Amino acid sequence: MDARLQSAFAALVGEKYVLTSPQDTAAYTTDWRRQYHADALCVLRPAHTAEVSALVGLCAREGIAIVPQGGNTGLSGGSVPTGTRPEIVLSLSRLDRIRAVDALNDTLTVEAGCVLADIQRAAAQAGRLFALSLGAEGSCQIGGNLSTNAGGVSVLRYGNAREQVLGLEVVLPDGRVWDGLRALRKDNTGYDLKQLFLGAEGTLGVITAAVLKLHPRPTANVTAWIAMRNPAHAVESLAQLRARLGERISAFELVSRGCLEAVLKHAPAIRDPLSRPHSWYVLAEFADTGTPATLAALVEQALADCSNLAQDAVLASSTTQSQSLWKIRETIPEAQFANVKHDVSVPVSKVPELIERVGAALESALPGVPVYAFGHIGDGNIHYNVGDQALLPRREEVNRIVYGVVAALGGSISAEHGLGQSKREQIRHYKDALELELMRALKRSFDPQGLMNPGKVL
Ligand SMILES: Cc1cc2nc3c(=O)[nH]c(=O)nc-3n(C[C@H](O)[C@H](O)[C@H](O)COP(=O)(O)OP(=O)(O)OC[C@H]3O[C@@H](n4cnc5c(N)ncnc54)[C@H](O)[C@@H]3O)c2cc1C
Repeated sequence: MDARLQSAFAALVGEKYVLTSPQDTAAYTTDWRRQYHADALCVLRPAHTAEVSALVGLCAREGIAIVPQGGNTGLSGGSVPTGTRPEIVLSLSRLDRIRAVDALNDTLTVEAGCVLADIQRAAAQAGRLFALSLGAEGSCQIGGNLSTNAGGVSVLRYGNAREQVLGLEVVLPDGRVWDGLRALRKDNTGYDLKQLFLGAEGTLGVITAAVLKLHPRPTANVTAWIAMRNPAHAVESLAQLRARLGERISAFELVSRGCLEAVLKHAPAIRDPLSRPHSWYVLAEFADTGTPATLAALVEQALADCSNLAQDAVLASSTTQSQSLWKIRETIPEAQFANVKHDVSVPVSKVPELIERVGAALESALPGVPVYAFGHIGDGNIHYNVGDQALLPRREEVNRIVYGVVAALGGSISAEHGLGQSKREQIRHYKDALELELMRALKRSFDPQGLMNPGKVL
């Protein structure tokens, strides 16, 4: 980067917050899975919306592309440069203030760089729940969560990140600030512009702040680890449990025996919760207001009513036990770190068919290949991971098999992680041509110079 540009950036944000040396920028230019890396001109670390606005405006005048970055925990290569043109990484991590808590309106106004776990804590201090929850919550940031429309483990009850938002503040690609920080539950004044930035993966603008919805805080939680014969029984039991427990089911996660074994091998301190092996498991979380004993009794009765489907079950009787059960689920990603990964969704009723058909097609093409199927079965979202590192060169072939079945079942090739760099090519085959045309038209209208996170999504 030339000295003129470096001092122009430094004048806007302070010299200390213009990172140029490889040791300073390394953590920002490689993605979490260490599959994507490219150099940037520099990493910029503004502290306020006004600084973001000034930096983005300068980039627009200089024709420099911008890669917005939150916690850099994204799983599709969206948060790092592509190296195809001059780019800067714009880290939002210093915009980390909680701007306002309005308990009576059940809202929290936060800046984009707030870490998700800190937002959950701020909501708890106000006696409320912020419902977004995912494995990376200790390091991902709300700006990244909203830009990927993150899912996680509470979607079944509370919806995706998109559904937790009432208002946004966004720096547009020319540097202007759109103040859409409204805290309204009703506002029918034309197009709902905020929705365009949610899930846009930084391709339309930089989210700098958001008004988030809060929920009543449950006073009772029950965690259950339930053995199932197959995914069809898991889907059927979800329907039966919902009929009995309604919205008290906040998470319903599928775990295959293969995933559990990978976890037990990777983390020997973790124990199999049941005394004998089963093919499939569900990790379910139930939450309610009222006493823990009342909820536990309701859950036990509901599980007893479904005993034809549940082969065995253990209920956590303490927070520590609950955390141990969740630890199994949270360790799955790192227990099978390098393989061919998929984040797909189909209608919940079609999940068993998806798992069966993809399994058969893979077995026929790659006999004996290990498959790790797990995820948010209550949302029809399965992480269908295949093989090990040696299979990575055959990724395209595996993708075609998995995505072919997903498409035949009316599903999506990206349920919650986004397209980023990793699925940018494939989406052309699996998304309707008219939808892609409309998306390109929106992109041109917001970002005519194509400076916002180029090489991602479209
Ligand atoms: C262990 C683990 C578990 C995970 N579990 C889940 C899960 O259950 N569900 C799920 O959905 N995801 C999950 N993820 C993926 C990841 O945590 C989410 O995608 C998360 O929302 C990314 O947030 P981030 O702050 O790390 O964003 P980053 O990775 O920094 O960025 C993600 C995308 O958002 C853009 N972006 C970031 N901040 C902004 C901003 N302020 N304005 C505009 N664009 C921006 C980036 O350019 C990039 O395209 C998991 C990841 C890990 C490592």
